[in-house]
Amino acid sequence: MILPGGMLGVLGGGQLGLMFSLAARRMGYRTLVVDPDPDAPAFAVCDRRIVGPYSDPDVLSEVAHACQAVTTEFENVPAASLAFLEKSHVVRPSSRSVATCQDRILEKTFLRDQGFETAPFAVLLDGRLPSPDQLSPLLPGILKSSREGYDGKGQWGIRSHEELSRFLKGRTGSYVLEKKLDLVGEFSVVLARGADGETALYPVAENLHASGILHVSAVPAGIPGPLSDRMSAVARSIALSLDYKGVLSVEFFLAEGDRLYVNELAPRPHNSGHYTIDACVASQFDQQVRVLAGLPLASTRLLSPCAMGNLLGSLWQDHLPPPLGNLLEHPSAKLYLYGKKNPRPGRKMGHFTVIAESAAEASLKAHTLLAALSPASLSQDLGEEPPVP
Ligand code: ADP
Ligand code: MG
Repeated sequence: MILPGGMLGVLGGGQLGLMFSLAARRMGYRTLVVDPDPDAPAFAVCDRRIVGPYSDPDVLSEVAHACQAVTTEFENVPAASLAFLEKSHVVRPSSRSVATCQDRILEKTFLRDQGFETAPFAVLLDGRLPSPDQLSPLLPGILKSSREGYDGKGQWGIRSHEELSRFLKGRTGSYVLEKKLDLVGEFSVVLARGADGETALYPVAENLHASGILHVSAVPAGIPGPLSDRMSAVARSIALSLDYKGVLSVEFFLAEGDRLYVNELAPRPHNSGHYTIDACVASQFDQQVRVLAGLPLASTRLLSPCAMGNLLGSLWQDHLPPPLGNLLEHPSAKLYLYGKKNPRPGRKMGHFTVIAESAAEASLKAHTLLAALSPASLSQDLGEEPPVP
């Protein structure tokens, strides 16, 4: 067990690293953050910073020298870097778990092999076209790059065989082509699993996306108990199959007839779990600290229905924040700004949470607060479909 005062390392200094560092600091731990970007948000609050690439041997040696245990806030950290640190240190989640989650081909194949239902998909290795027989049932589909995609980036809508061949011409990358499902809803489960296998699940969150980016998330999800129990059971059993240690997020698609599909996994806290800071006994970041330090998990109990709204870059005009008056005046809303210097459309600049008597009421408040920020600029972020090549 690593006691308060110990140094915890985190690869990645984005908002998740920032919130991890704040949770760690509150419990008396020190943090070391690595990020190639000198302006990374977590650098504002950590005890030690390293600006450099995640795969640089000098960077990794410094992390190994300074830290007692290491985690990641970012699934695209090279798994080999985590494997290097694992030789001498506690690393949670493990390099193996991160390797599975950072490659859509490995991730989807793992899920299918373990019997978890995913949207029908085909693997396209090195830009090779699938056979017409394989392709037809997947159209219209969504082509997703196997690596480095996030927030809808690295995704293209594909309507025909011809469109796919045109897209793949001259490309050598690997992709997953997934059938586009008619979704009734999107949901997520965040859980923490300790070194001894103890697992704690947060309630199912109901997520509204726009242009592939999370827009509003509300808890508890407005679905019947047996359906949310199914999601929780699937998430728990995925963590078990991966022998996962750390905070794991599982995204779900729900289609007509209560058909449930696992969309994707994130080997870290999740945007849809930010509400846990304000509305649960222990937050997803508290649990990340606890698992890493080898402490017992804390309670995931929900103290109040809550909704979260993301503040995306297009709300920033000429690098100035949107008018935040309504948000700041609202007695049950809490604002989080990540301190990012360069607002870009679609970039997550901050979020807010709002509590209410019910999830529906909290969600309505979140939508109202978002609409007041700047309806015109918001539409830049919020299209409906992924771009067509
Ligand atoms: P990311 O890593 O960018 O979050 P996802 O695979 O989760 O990638 O896709 C982002 C969003 O795009 C999803 O939350 C969903 O709204 C939409 N989407 C992705 N795949 C499908 C699909 N097969 N059918 C319908 N919608 C999808
Ligand atoms: Mg996703």
